[in-house]
Amino acid sequence: MGRNLTELHPRLQEKVAQLQILCAKENLLLGIGECFRTAAEQNELYAQGRTKAGAIITNAPGSSYSSQHQWGIAFDFFKNVRGHEYDDNAFFTRVSQLGRTIGLAWGGDWHSIVDKPHLYLPDWGSNTGILKSTYGTFESFKKTWGKASITPIKPAQPVVEAPWKATGTATCGGDGVRVRMIPNGNVILQLNKGQRFEVNGETSGKWVKIKAQNTIGWMHSNYVKYDKLILKEDGKWGADTTRRAQQIFGLPQDGVISNQLNFYKSICPGILSAQWSNAKKGGSQLVRAMQAWLGIPQDGYIGPVFIKALQGKMGKRQDGVLSNPSQCITAFQHWCNQQA
Ligand SMILES: [Zn+2]
Repeated sequence: MGRNLTELHPRLQEKVAQLQILCAKENLLLGIGECFRTAAEQNELYAQGRTKAGAIITNAPGSSYSSQHQWGIAFDFFKNVRGHEYDDNAFFTRVSQLGRTIGLAWGGDWHSIVDKPHLYLPDWGSNTGILKSTYGTFESFKKTWGKASITPIKPAQPVVEAPWKATGTATCGGDGVRVRMIPNGNVILQLNKGQRFEVNGETSGKWVKIKAQNTIGWMHSNYVKYDKLILKEDGKWGADTTRRAQQIFGLPQDGVISNQLNFYKSICPGILSAQWSNAKKGGSQLVRAMQAWLGIPQDGYIGPVFIKALQGKMGKRQDGVLSNPSQCITAFQHWCNQQA
């Protein structure tokens, strides 16, 4: 059972090539499944659910030549993400819509067996009756084929998607709020006021990555009402403390204090969620917001000035060190838990 696109009717090869371009434009990861299928291979499939284990997947025995795959005019597709090849209905619907715009027909529109991964050339109708009566055999049909003017590319290796890791929960702040496949992309879901979802801390500009009703997508930050994160007051500034502080200061919540200076790392053993580097890369947005709140210069870096100001604000001894654990961090976590 080949995935060799060059065994397909030349016109179908051209359409696959077009479809690959359309899918790439929308970040749809198109995987190519079965293309041409021999009679023996079709018999194997026909046996499934009849004389062999499994569910019935085709009504066409090999000898009948009634599968479009046996005539080279159909191919199967899937989402090229390992472990999620067939679980995303929105993907199949969108690819079929794109297929239709370039003259392909879709097995998802069939009634006898709905075949969502199946696209075909509709020139001979939705079954193989006309092909059989006109050409008799596949070999004589193939003699009528020309050459493809553009040929499809070999699909890339499957993408391995990182498992979803929720960092918090939130509520939808409006009615009919659109969740999109990518920021500004196609709508895959709509949520109403009060509906709950998960977030994983990923943001892109004004867009927030969310998971609702088992679907992962992007929602505009205006509608994302984060739940208040209650911190453990343990004196260790981890990702949750950063996330909560980002929430309080109205910033994207990725849980990371970015671009901090290695130079100051030794006075910050209690800070466990910072990104350290030797180069000055502009510091952190959160630190800048906190510096404004503390009334000190806003350079974005945690250093002695920042630490002493925070210790002062929290009513602790101003020794300029955030230990692990640190009384100042405990007091800051307590302060965070007091905020609305
Ligand atoms: Zn098929």
